[in-house]
Amino acid sequence: MSTYGIDLGTTYSCIARLDQNGNPEVIRNNEDNSNTLASVVFFENENNVIVGQVAKDNIETDGDRVVQFVKRWIGKSDARTYTFDDKTYTPTEISALILTRLKDIVESQGDTIDNVVITVPAYFGLEERSATKQAGELAGLNVLNLINEPTAAALSYCARQFQEDRTILVYDLGGGTFDVSIIKMSMTPSDNGGDVQKITVLATGGERELGGKDWDDKLSDFILHACCDENGLSPEDLDAETRQDIRSKVEEAKRKLSQKEKAKVRIDVNGSRTEIVVTRNDFEKMTADLVGTTMNHVERTLQKVDGVEIDTVLLVGGSTYMPMIKNAVEARFPGKVQQHDPDQAVAKGAAIYASMLGLAVDNVSDEDSNVENISEDKRAELATKFAVEDQTPRSFGPGVVDTKGSKSKYILENFIKVGEKMPAIATRTYYPIEDNQERVRLRAFENRSMEDAIIPCVNEEGEPQATDPAHDVKLLGELIVNLPPNTPKTTKIQVTFKVDASGVHVEAINTATGDKFETFLRTASDIDIDKSAVHQLRISSD
Ligand code: ADP
Ligand code: MG
Repeated sequence: MSTYGIDLGTTYSCIARLDQNGNPEVIRNNEDNSNTLASVVFFENENNVIVGQVAKDNIETDGDRVVQFVKRWIGKSDARTYTFDDKTYTPTEISALILTRLKDIVESQGDTIDNVVITVPAYFGLEERSATKQAGELAGLNVLNLINEPTAAALSYCARQFQEDRTILVYDLGGGTFDVSIIKMSMTPSDNGGDVQKITVLATGGERELGGKDWDDKLSDFILHACCDENGLSPEDLDAETRQDIRSKVEEAKRKLSQKEKAKVRIDVNGSRTEIVVTRNDFEKMTADLVGTTMNHVERTLQKVDGVEIDTVLLVGGSTYMPMIKNAVEARFPGKVQQHDPDQAVAKGAAIYASMLGLAVDNVSDEDSNVENISEDKRAELATKFAVEDQTPRSFGPGVVDTKGSKSKYILENFIKVGEKMPAIATRTYYPIEDNQERVRLRAFENRSMEDAIIPCVNEEGEPQATDPAHDVKLLGELIVNLPPNTPKTTKIQVTFKVDASGVHVEAINTATGDKFETFLRTASDIDIDKSAVHQLRISSD
């Protein structure tokens, strides 16, 4: 039985395990001659589905049969689907194809793969998390757990150079997303007596659609105009093949510029060969605004943890190979920047975590591979050194009515907050709005706010809404609580929310009768919004 960590990325994915000495190693994708696998799927025909670089190479020529950036849609209630040859795929199913390909890569090298940990962005809500887990299961993997990407990166960094009590800023610039996370590592007493390093995400920020792709676009534009200048043409004169040729060569040119001062790109312009030379200096000038945008997000995220001193900045994500990134971050955090295998660090951290968890689930038996036996000690050492705490990815609570004051207000009471240790559980008591109320519709919301309450949380139509869109309020579902005839409005209804990695459990108890109602909410259901206020619960008894 072998345990792996998987970074299921927006543009590239990566799989890693611990080697015999307990050090994380990435399983190479020999077919693409790379440490990573392009998260791109090409549906060539009903019998041939290709994942990886070959699929990516087909974006220009067969774009309508290629799926990329699927991670942007996974677990979204309004997620799109993809239909090829009369078969429809959800983003979860497409993700499962990418995971299956990673599994094949491992198996083609003679190992088996059973238990895995998959990484997710720290900002993923419950639906995105459960869809990711489901993708793993569809690929035939036993998903031990998920881990936040910045936490995995921090784990991989700390496993190589252990230092107590650190605050780490993770700057993760990938192919299509930019994530900033501030993470605290602190020594806390563990269950078995010793101390463990607890890893907690303090704040997250960034931009969902900013990444290496934007650098590619700028470079592509530059080359296109240079081709025109060379040949005395205007952009409209360029044929489709020339444009394709440019697009297919920019990413490679960009990668070259991370190592060299100059890159030569040969393009067939309307049939004749043209050579364009791009210097790193040109490239840095044309993309300086993008670097500036990332640094603004860094400042904004720092503001969320007002006054916290950053000890280390970790550069993660393939795009941080560009020297301009390291230079900009180094200028802001002199002497604090660390970069180790930025495109693999997340998968490696997941492998470490998977091994720590694997210790608890697999009682290594005779048929197990040698690799796992040998790393046993190391795994035990890691498990006693680190504790990755599952934290609530969002705040949760019911929508209730505050009848105090002249006008009643609909309030979202956040009684479980972002970042609490899971399982998180909280109970509060509410009351029916009026005497003889027949039922209560108890609505459960998910949001990003740290406030105790958000007012108002629904608009005139009864749709979820926050005072600030950043709260990202989402209605998860509702629990219908039927009340017996003649229930007075002073009746106490005890409401409990319990959040764990699999979803939200909502329970309501009519304390007068002992009647109990409960539901488990994992994904947002379609709910008929009931605008009548009578079916609500209110906060105070008077
Ligand atoms: P993901 O976005 O899926 O998390 P990665 O962290 O692997 O993926 O980042 C992929 C991005 O990194 C792509 O835009 C790719 O072009 C870019 N990249 C990878 N290697 C280099 C390099 N040497 N120089 C510049 N960019 C690179
Ligand atoms: Mg990534």
